[in-house]
Amino acid sequence: MGSATIISLITLGFITLIGFGAFGLSSIGEGERRAARIALGAAAFTSSLLFLACLLPTGARLAILSTMVGAGVAGVILFLLPIGRVERGNDVPQGRFDERDIMFARARLIPGSPEYEAYYALRPKNQAGDDKTRNLPGLLSPAASKANLMAFASAEASFCLTEALREEVDGPVAPGRSELAAADMTSFVKNLAGYYGSYTVGIAELQPYHIYSHIGRGSGEYGAPITLDHRYAIAFTVEMDYTMMKSAPEAPVVMESARQYVEAARVALQLSYLIRGLGYPARAHIDGNYRIIAPLVARDAGLGEIGRMGLLMIPTLGPRVRLGVVTTDLPLIPDQRSPGTSMIAFCQICQKCAECCPSQSIPTNDRAEIDGALRWRINADTCFRYWNVIGTDCGRCMAVCPYSHPNNPVHNLVRWGVRHSGMARRVALWMDDVFYPQRGPGGGRQPAHQPVPDWIPRG
Ligand code: SF4
Ligand code: SF4
Repeated sequence: MGSATIISLITLGFITLIGFGAFGLSSIGEGERRAARIALGAAAFTSSLLFLACLLPTGARLAILSTMVGAGVAGVILFLLPIGRVERGNDVPQGRFDERDIMFARARLIPGSPEYEAYYALRPKNQAGDDKTRNLPGLLSPAASKANLMAFASAEASFCLTEALREEVDGPVAPGRSELAAADMTSFVKNLAGYYGSYTVGIAELQPYHIYSHIGRGSGEYGAPITLDHRYAIAFTVEMDYTMMKSAPEAPVVMESARQYVEAARVALQLSYLIRGLGYPARAHIDGNYRIIAPLVARDAGLGEIGRMGLLMIPTLGPRVRLGVVTTDLPLIPDQRSPGTSMIAFCQICQKCAECCPSQSIPTNDRAEIDGALRWRINADTCFRYWNVIGTDCGRCMAVCPYSHPNNPVHNLVRWGVRHSGMARRVALWMDDVFYPQRGPGGGRQPAHQPVPDWIPRG
């Protein structure tokens, strides 16, 4: 009995040393100094206590072990408790969304132009707010409060490239069709998307609510009704760089957004050229020239869920992705939507993005029914207005989201728990507050802004 308790305490000591130590080392790799300090401190403290406990009399060692076993059993029971479950409810919109209503389309309207007059005759309530936004410095403006000339020049260069690609989204279809079976074609297209640089990829059957009702920007006549009769949509994600996004809302964020719009456009165009070459129609949907609502398509393709901040969140990177879509008639096999509602359940209790949003644009209440669909809706007007003050696309919500941590074994272990247990969701949220906070106006739930990477000149 005596030696068995010593072996058990030493084993537990090594488990805590390795567990916290691995977390600490991976936090160093992520540049998360506070998390590294706490984890390495916990590794040293708990393992030392357990090793020292070996020097105690047998009765005391047994008492410590019994307490730890009891705590472990209680932890398993709490993990399995069916708490905090949410029903998905109906999250399918009833109608189609008009692209003219999105902020990017409204921002392009030139006062006095026929489009300007026509739009505000249609939506008079939007005019005063939009004119106010138009009078701000604007995205990538040197007069903006977060202006950084080099970073803005880099972002501008990427946006120029996306703009140059905008008319390439569609084209002639090759005569003669490849007759590969749908299952084989689906496998090939998905693997090819990964080979081209996508992070995750899925297929959805295209639904009317995926498609904007009227053109708001991009190719085609402004305000024209949209018809898109493709049967399938290939949706994919590209990863946004963790370090660049952690500096949100500083200028590296807009550099990274612009760069990943280029990547998403490149992959989408490559896929669409390929499919047309195989004898089937295909249209790429890229920044500034969409006909579909990419987050809805990607959600229905099984890539993730739409969270509180209104962005698609994928299981391994959360919202830290950009999306690309290709619609086509190529015979494909659609994916199912992601099972489970753990992401929505986590958003219900988290609210970190809402608490950290500088313009208070993210709701703190429960999902509400909007156009027949249960969802959260951010205030896109105030969000976009803030972008036009600071000159970047902010991204603070994306940076603070607990799902945005890197895809590595330590965070994936937490994600596994979050997926399977309501209690684990609460513990994970508490840990996120403890390991990553900066005591400030948010009462300790405001993760620190990471500095702008050294290689980007200031000013
Ligand atoms: S920060 Fe929290 S509430 Fe906001 S999207 Fe991420 S998980 Fe959901
Ligand atoms: S991008 Fe910034 S302003 Fe907009 S919702 Fe996110 S945190 Fe708020």
